[in-house]
Amino acid sequence: MIHSKLPDTGTTIFTVMSQLALEYNAINLGQGFPDFMMSEALIALVNSAMLKGYNQYAHMNGLPLLREKLAQKVKKLYNNSINPETQITITPGGTYGIYTAFTSILEKDDEVIVFEPAYDSYIPNIIINGAKPILIQLQFPSFNIPWDEVKQKITAKTKAIIINSPHNPTGAVINENDIEQLKQIVYNKNIFIISDEVYEHLIFDNIPHQSILRYPELLEKSFVCFSFGKTYNCTGWKIGYCIASPLLMKEFRNVHQFNCFSCNSFVQYALAEFLDNEDAYLSLGKFIQNKRDYFQKLMEATKFKAIPSHGSYFQCYSYKDFSNENDMELAIRLTKECGVTTVPLSSFYQSKKDDKVLRFCFAKKEETLKEAAERLIKI
Ligand code: GLN
Repeated sequence: MIHSKLPDTGTTIFTVMSQLALEYNAINLGQGFPDFMMSEALIALVNSAMLKGYNQYAHMNGLPLLREKLAQKVKKLYNNSINPETQITITPGGTYGIYTAFTSILEKDDEVIVFEPAYDSYIPNIIINGAKPILIQLQFPSFNIPWDEVKQKITAKTKAIIINSPHNPTGAVINENDIEQLKQIVYNKNIFIISDEVYEHLIFDNIPHQSILRYPELLEKSFVCFSFGKTYNCTGWKIGYCIASPLLMKEFRNVHQFNCFSCNSFVQYALAEFLDNEDAYLSLGKFIQNKRDYFQKLMEATKFKAIPSHGSYFQCYSYKDFSNENDMELAIRLTKECGVTTVPLSSFYQSKKDDKVLRFCFAKKEETLKEAAERLIKI
């Protein structure tokens, strides 16, 4: 007999929608992953690393050379000197980094501030650690953070706050004022920050990414999680990294060592070398922005109304002007009748709040986006 630690958590919506897309042979704009080819040069580096014999365990905390290169990148992009030996750990993906960060700090009955719509792993991560998510809804439809409400919901039990910019599922991004508010909230308090920055380079419209890494006083209290999969268009590689203060990273590694131990070595050798190619990550924002713009233009011919997206793989579209259906029903109908799969926004709310909005992933080839939009005109 198993007493589930997550009795109320069903199968993740991404798996559910991807399976539905497969079943009905629909274009999958649901789960967030590119359908175009990644860099073949990076694949060649992995291949060559394997042939060179880099096939045994890497260092538990990640290949030292890769961590060194990441520290150089952080210095260059965010003007912050971090110590690769004590502050960076390579992880099997961003989601794992976030889970490990929560597990490192949470105790029973701790409270964690979570903004909704929320990426679907956060709340189960908190619950499995015996802690309690304190839900705050982002303002609709700007998806800005209501800081006054955050201040009201801070209690003696607040252990952490999780932020995510660029934001999944909405594409909203935080600005300097948000950082200022966050500083005021955590100042002189024992509140940790988990910052999900997996879409670091997927930011549009010349907006600078407000990384926690820019702010040493915030990094003192933070775990900042990144994803190579998002940066190099290879989500299936499941490799990322976490950056934290030495004190926090020590505990993170305590958890990590008996869970993952170390990530695959050959990919780390390849990534260490590929990081010298700055253009590969600096040009990504513009490349993906063009896809957002291309899809948005095509969608003007449909009845869907775009809600602005400034980053990530995603854009939300409202259908309230033409249908009263609940968003899950519409997402299923679109898959079956139009052959296009999306993710209903209600799946990112515990209450299943239905604002009549669907999330579309536009990180796809132009031909895929064109075909999807043509199918959606029919609805
Ligand atoms: N991050 C991706 C998304 O939001 C999916 C990740 C996953 O399937 N676990 O669609």
